Amino acid sequence: MNLLKIGADGAGSQVRKAIGGKYLSWNYDYMGVVATLKFSEATSNVVAWQRFLPTGPIALLPLNDEMSSLVWSLPNDRAKQVLELSAESFVDAVNDAFWKQHKQEQVVVDTTRSLGRTLASILPFSTSSPGSQQLQPTVASVEEGSRAAFPLGFGHASYYARLGAVLIGDAAHRIHPLAGQGVNLGFGDVKCLAEILATSAQNGTPLGQLKPLLDYERQRQLHNLPLMLGVDGLHRLYTANNTVAALARGVGVTVVEALTPLKGFFAKYAAS
Ligand SMILES: Cc1cc2nc3c(=O)[nH]c(=O)nc-3n(C[C@H](O)[C@H](O)[C@H](O)COP(=O)(O)OP(=O)(O)OC[C@H]3O[C@@H](n4cnc5c(N)ncnc54)[C@H](O)[C@@H]3O)c2cc1C
Repeated sequence: MNLLKIGADGAGSQVRKAIGGKYLSWNYDYMGVVATLKFSEATSNVVAWQRFLPTGPIALLPLNDEMSSLVWSLPNDRAKQVLELSAESFVDAVNDAFWKQHKQEQVVVDTTRSLGRTLASILPFSTSSPGSQQLQPTVASVEEGSRAAFPLGFGHASYYARLGAVLIGDAAHRIHPLAGQGVNLGFGDVKCLAEILATSAQNGTPLGQLKPLLDYERQRQLHNLPLMLGVDGLHRLYTANNTVAALARGVGVTVVEALTPLKGFFAKYAAS
C-alpha cells in the first residue's frame, strides 16, 4: 500500500469512525463561551489571564493592544443565559467574573496562607512571577457577532493508527480548554508524524505501512494521555463544590506558585 489517509477532521471525526476502535469520551455538561473583547484603553497586552471560579475557569487571551479573546467555561444553562444577555450586561458579567471576590471557607484561607508562608520560608525560589504584579485590563465592550458557545468534553481514540490511515489533533483527542493545550497537542502530533514518515520514506518503506504509524501512535499516546487526564482532573477539582476540594485547590495553586521550577516543568512538558 502506498497511500495514507490522515484524519484531521476534528472531535466528530468521520475518519475515526471509519477506521473503528474504541473512543473513550464524556461530556462535561459545560460550554466554552467565546467572544472578542475590547478594553477601555490600549495597554501592553501580552499576558494571558485565567481565573478559576466555582462555576469554571474564565480566560482572556491577548489579540492586540486593545483586544483579547475570551474563553469562559460555564455550566450549559448558564452559558446559554450569558449568550442571550445584552452586550452591556455581557461585559458587566465578564468584568464581574474577573473581579468579584468569592466567599471562601475559613479553613481553606488559613491553610493556604500558612502553607504559602512555610514554603516561602524554606524554599529559595520567589513566590510570584513579575507578570503576577500586573492587573488584568477592564473590558469595555464586546465585538458584535463574536459571541458563541461550544460544548466541552473529553475524548480519546484507542487507535490513532491503522493500515493506511492515521488520526491527528482533535480527531484523536479532545480536552477541556482550561490549560490551553488542545492546539499544542495537535501540533505535537503533526511534528511527530512528519518526522516518522520522513525517516520511513528514507528507509524505502511505502507510505501507509502500519509499523511506522504504530510508532507514531505509541509516542503520541504516551505523551498525550497523562496530560489529558491531568487536565480532566483539574477541571473536576476546580468545579467540585466542597471544602476538601477547595482545600486541595488552594494547596495546589500555592505549591505550583511557590515552586517556580515546578511551574517551568509543567510549562515545558505541555510545550514538548
Ligand atoms: C471553547 C473552546 C476554546 C478553546 N480554547 C483553546 C485554547 O485557548 N488553546 C488551545 O490550544 N486550544 C483551545 N481549544 C481547542 C482547540 O480549538 C482544538 O484543539 C483545535 O481546534 C483542534 O484542531 P483540529 O485541526 O484538530 O480540529 P478542528 O479545529 O476541529 O478542525 C477540524 C476541521 O475539519 C473540518 N471537517 C470536519 N469534518 C469534515 C469533513 N467530513 N470533510 C471536510 N472537512 C471536515 C472542520 O470543518 C474543521 O475545519 C478550545 C476549544 C474550544 C471548544
